[in-house]
Amino acid sequence: MNRTSFLRSLQWPACLLVALAFTACTPDAPETPPPAAPALPELPPTPAFNADSAYAFVQRQVDFGPRVPGTPAHTACADWMVARLKAAGAEVIEQTGTVSVYTGQKLPLRNLFARWAPDRKERILLLAHYDTRPMADKDDERKNQPIDGANDGGSGVGVLLEIARHLAAKEHGPGVDILFTDVEDQGQPSGAMTLDDNSIDTWALGAQYFSKNPPVPGYQARFGILLDMVGAKDAVFYREAISMQFAPAVVAKVWKTAAALGHGERFVQETKYFVGTDDHVPINRTLRIPTIDIIEYHEATGAFHPSWHTHDDNMAVIDRASLNVVGSTVLEVVWKER
Ligand SMILES: [Zn+2]
Repeated sequence: MNRTSFLRSLQWPACLLVALAFTACTPDAPETPPPAAPALPELPPTPAFNADSAYAFVQRQVDFGPRVPGTPAHTACADWMVARLKAAGAEVIEQTGTVSVYTGQKLPLRNLFARWAPDRKERILLLAHYDTRPMADKDDERKNQPIDGANDGGSGVGVLLEIARHLAAKEHGPGVDILFTDVEDQGQPSGAMTLDDNSIDTWALGAQYFSKNPPVPGYQARFGILLDMVGAKDAVFYREAISMQFAPAVVAKVWKTAAALGHGERFVQETKYFVGTDDHVPINRTLRIPTIDIIEYHEATGAFHPSWHTHDDNMAVIDRASLNVVGSTVLEVVWKER
């Protein structure tokens, strides 16, 4: 036994004695309060969402022309989106395939899946569709011509491309994935996102494809947020019923965050059942990622914006304030997630 181990051999009994003596001699000592939970480290401030940038991203998409799958405008827009995502530091996985639409026609599919910090196990999924309606079936004129899709398609992508610009700087919390789905809006006209059960599966084909064949095996995320038709002037967002069914806690988180940012009048604490289906349905059903839809409920129509699936869905309906309300809320939710 050397000197150090000899001293060490004395230490334990000595400590025990001191401890016993202390306990025995101080019966009336005040109760020590339970140790307080360690304060969570402060999160870095949320970057400012730039609505001008989001607006410019919507304009850029519209400038390509209608983004109908299989057309040069669609390809050019997708190429540009991939370049934007890579410039923002994302690893981009392109998922290609072929899907059959309700007419039996086969269409090429190109989902864009962008990932930041892909090595982090915890994930947040943000998504929006980027294809546009190949017809104006809700219009009175030129029904068989494709629409601009500034709001329906363009707005969700514009907001997420602006959020994407900030994600490389996010060194805390879960990693973020942005999924731009293709072939969402090529569904059967009569059932266009209404309650017609027979046609519901003809919509959101890109999200269905992604959910059945996730390009990252076993893909999971803590939660998902879908943006669809978020850019019209004075847009108001009610709690969407399918989101409430699958992901009420995510709805609560997002609506609470919006209120805290002063957007409570735009995010109304009331549930409306007006969406027949959307990209969040296969993500919830097949991948079981609790995913919500932020989508405008328009009081006058009792459903979507009056420009929906008409030629009026152009840049004239897009408003920076609406893009800002949604974009700043989603960015705050993403940034505050530990
Ligand atoms: Zn649509």
